[in-house]
Amino acid sequence: MLCVLKMPSKKLPKIDTELCIGCGHCIMACPLGVLKLENKKSVVIAPEKCDSEGRCIAACPMHAIAHLEDKEY
Ligand code: SF4
Repeated sequence: MLCVLKMPSKKLPKIDTELCIGCGHCIMACPLGVLKLENKKSVVIAPEKCDSEGRCIAACPMHAIAHLEDKEY
């Protein structure tokens, strides 16, 4: 029997760093600690915790998190 192991894939926030103003609303909206500010920009620091519910998207006043993208982690 052939057994193929694949890395898990899920939808994660894609942050447009040109639009991000570092307000932190997405970080406050996420109860799972997926995002963090680094150099005044939001970045994904804990992809394994993301439940792909899009709370960060709804919270962003700049529409800097336009969608979730498939990512392997
Ligand atoms: S809510 Fe939007 S603009 Fe504010 S830190 Fe998050 S991604 Fe950047």
